[in-house]
Amino acid sequence: MGSLQDNSNDDRYIIWLDIDNTLYSASARISHAMGERIHAYFLSLGFPDEEASELHHKYYTQYGLALRGLVRHHEIDPLDFDRKCDGSLPLEDMLQRDPKLHKLLEDIDRSKARVWALTNAYKTHAQRVLRILGVEDQIEGLVYCDYANPEFSCKPEPEYFHNALQQAQVQDPSKCCFVDDSRMNVHAARQLGWGRCVHFCEQGLTTVEGGKPKEIGKDTSSGTNDSDLVVISDLEELRTIWADLFKPSAN
Ligand SMILES: [Mg+2]
Repeated sequence: MGSLQDNSNDDRYIIWLDIDNTLYSASARISHAMGERIHAYFLSLGFPDEEASELHHKYYTQYGLALRGLVRHHEIDPLDFDRKCDGSLPLEDMLQRDPKLHKLLEDIDRSKARVWALTNAYKTHAQRVLRILGVEDQIEGLVYCDYANPEFSCKPEPEYFHNALQQAQVQDPSKCCFVDDSRMNVHAARQLGWGRCVHFCEQGLTTVEGGKPKEIGKDTSSGTNDSDLVVISDLEELRTIWADLFKPSAN
């Protein structure tokens, strides 16, 4: 993975894949384990239990990432946070190789589309997940939250999406195909003219967002006019939705 080559004349489509709760199922309960660790981090800053929960949820809702609020308002070291939260997750016990996902990505016609990952995690967590799932070789580039930069941006901030386009040297946002389990992120990408956005939504499972358990599919993101949004519950559906981007033999 890397983005050092010159892609400025590359007019293929680009498929952007969120990682957490998208490339693996929410049933792995990684967001639950993450939520617990983030809560412990708030407690370690001296917040009482209830206030820790409130702030955690508030920052997640406000910024798309609890860490964003912690850095902005409490001057914590994001890399320390990453080590104690994502870095301490026993991912090797929670995830396994996914040959079906590998085949799905392998079946994408690379003469028509590039495949990149786009995550709110730091690169160490992102690379670790891709390695455990066994799909590292299928991902051509990675855009991650650069926690090492105090001014880092994250999804759903427009700046983050603009930065992604810049890194991949995408000229035309309509060539972007994006799949994410966060409706907020998908909505933001659509607002910026990303052409083919898909909400990955595992109806009925629970996830933890901002430290609070949430039934997936219950966030109809009020006030956003996205009733025509494509929603899938299995990544295999991409073979149909983006059929023109898969190898002819693949379907
Ligand atoms: Mg996600």
